[in-house]
Amino acid sequence: MTHATLAAEFVADGPRAHWHDQTLWFVRAKRDKAAHQVPEWEQLREAASQIKAATMANLADYLEQFEANATRLGAHVHWAANAAEHNQIVLEILERHGVRRLVKSKSMLTEECHLNPFLERHGIEVVDSDLGERIVQLSGEPPSHIVMPAIHYKKEDIGTLFHEHLGTEAGASDPNYLAEAARQHLRDKFLTADAGLTGVNFAVAETGGFVVCTNEGNADLGVSLPKLHIACMGIEKLIPRAKDLGVFLRLLARSATGQPITTYSSHFHGPLPGGELHIVLVDNGRSEILGSDEFRRSLNCIRCGACMNTCPVYRRSGGHSYETTVPGPIGSILAPARDMKKFASLPHACSLCGSCTDVCPVKIDIHHQLLTWRREIALHGNLPLRKRLSMKAASFVLRHPWLYKIAGKTARTIVPWLPRFMIYNRFNGWGRQRELPPMPPRSFRELYRQRQNGK
Ligand code: SF4
Repeated sequence: MTHATLAAEFVADGPRAHWHDQTLWFVRAKRDKAAHQVPEWEQLREAASQIKAATMANLADYLEQFEANATRLGAHVHWAANAAEHNQIVLEILERHGVRRLVKSKSMLTEECHLNPFLERHGIEVVDSDLGERIVQLSGEPPSHIVMPAIHYKKEDIGTLFHEHLGTEAGASDPNYLAEAARQHLRDKFLTADAGLTGVNFAVAETGGFVVCTNEGNADLGVSLPKLHIACMGIEKLIPRAKDLGVFLRLLARSATGQPITTYSSHFHGPLPGGELHIVLVDNGRSEILGSDEFRRSLNCIRCGACMNTCPVYRRSGGHSYETTVPGPIGSILAPARDMKKFASLPHACSLCGSCTDVCPVKIDIHHQLLTWRREIALHGNLPLRKRLSMKAASFVLRHPWLYKIAGKTARTIVPWLPRFMIYNRFNGWGRQRELPPMPPRSFRELYRQRQNGK
């Protein structure tokens, strides 16, 4: 289905769409406040952008350096070319250790690889330990946002879900009560897990260590009790030096939620004493993006979600309408790189307002890349027929000034006299929620000429 079709389903519930919009705008406003409190914010963004660009230019060398240093610290490093290899590697490690229950902290990469259903098909119970992730897992849905996976739910919905799955009181919606119920439920899972799996926010080539950022401490708890820790990371998560970490950690939380820093920024250097640490480095299409001059910078993304919180389209259409692991503006760049035909509608789900580019902490030129995707999609013949024909008609009119003039004059004369049903009908999608502005008495050309003549 296209983004427009799915978004129409989401906005059909007007109050919910409004509430979703307001909630994310609140987070965006918090981000602004936090950013404005750092006088050197723009220098930080520039530094992050340059560090990422330099890393991507030498990614192969940095990856080898990271592998050598991580191995020296006692970790086992694995390489996966795609999602299937990643899943197989994780399964083999788990089976070798006889793992029946895995506790997992938030990792968009494992979502991208569909690791949970894969492991469950092989008889391994996977428990997402981030509260938002656990909520969407219990409801059988994918996350709708990369930082706040259950942001599309109201507390009343979560009360119903917990009543069904965790046996809480029917109709309960008190956040403290629900959070306590989730805590008790997860505590049991933590204590009985055979292995812990985390994502990676930043891996440092110079040291072979990596950092996982959470607000709930669930990653630390998940990998402190069992002896086996698996960390899965996309190859773009690398940064060259330990001293670069400060730049990214200062940007990440402020951009994501408006916090000065995430509550837990946990550093891992090698396995626990007597334990095992496996790091799985995953490509899954990233090398192809790296090879593209137009879209390489999308790999700089540190998954803060700021572009989603500010995007007027994402805020009103919800994350599930993108049908991708990473939704919103950055997801609309990454998804067509994976399958241009399937995700051809996403770069068009953009108002090109540029707000995403303004907030991006690593200065990705998001809306420019979305515009480039539109051109690529059109050149490859992936536009729907209706759009192709209407674009051709618009192009014909715009290339013939006399025709443009006649069309304008006709519209200005006729539209004010047309009955409403002839303007506001099912063919005018634009007019479904908006009134057309009144027709101006004169064209821009006439007004301009008048001004030039000083009249
Ligand atoms: S593209 Fe930029 S703003 Fe969007 S999630 Fe990535 S880093 Fe954050």
